[in-house]
Amino acid sequence: MIKLIIALWIIFFVYLAYLLFDYLKYKYLLKKLKTTKFPDVYRKYLQNIPHYQKLPKKLKTKIEYSILLFINLKKFIGVYVEVTDEIKVIISFYACLIVINKKNSCYEELEYIYVYPHTMILDNIRNSGGIYTKEKFLISGESIGESVIVSWDEAKKDAYHLRHQNVIVHEFTHELDFESGTVNGVPPLEKSKYNEWINIIYKDYQEFAKRISNHKNLEKYKLINPYGATNEAEFFAVVSEMFWTKPKTLKLHFPDIYKEYKEFFNFDSAKYFDF
Ligand SMILES: [Zn+2]
Repeated sequence: MIKLIIALWIIFFVYLAYLLFDYLKYKYLLKKLKTTKFPDVYRKYLQNIPHYQKLPKKLKTKIEYSILLFINLKKFIGVYVEVTDEIKVIISFYACLIVINKKNSCYEELEYIYVYPHTMILDNIRNSGGIYTKEKFLISGESIGESVIVSWDEAKKDAYHLRHQNVIVHEFTHELDFESGTVNGVPPLEKSKYNEWINIIYKDYQEFAKRISNHKNLEKYKLINPYGATNEAEFFAVVSEMFWTKPKTLKLHFPDIYKEYKEFFNFDSAKYFDF
């Protein structure tokens, strides 16, 4: 019995030492990055991105630091594609842009970014109420907690050509959604904000989904990608793409949604991005 107790104590202290080591390593990295010069080769890629061009100098500096941190903390894994600096910088830029004004946010749960060369059909194992099924599915992106999948050809086009959609923003919005415990279109919110979000966003989602399924009277809802009618989580991700790629349109036609997103992201995108 005593041996067991001693063994448990040893495990406990080893675990504590591991946590402490991890924490100190992280602090050291933060300090080191503060004095690291942002590589010119990275900036060259950023300078071709319309969103980066529109940021004021202060936010450019801020996001460059975030990008270095992101690249240091996350593992990029290329699947049938070599992970280049360009891939890392572009994906990190949009991942960091959407959380640029959020506190302590560098996607804590996230460890891996899988990069595919293009949209692919994959076998997917789905767990539905404990029942596992294998199915084919089409990916241009996918987010599941510790990993995000991005299809590079889509991501590249979205980044350089302002296509009013953005697969990186879409997938990392799912990742933020996941931080609340489930991917259901409700990201982590302050308690006082929760009901407001449900009332405003869900009301519009239901109206949108109803009109899409009836194939008529879309009116202003035709501005939203119909894929958003799939479920509340996709609605959140699709409208988030709008918030970042055509914020003025979102603000004009859906001012209530815009306000909720502006508060959640802590960013007034229409002020910076007049796309
Ligand atoms: Zn999605």
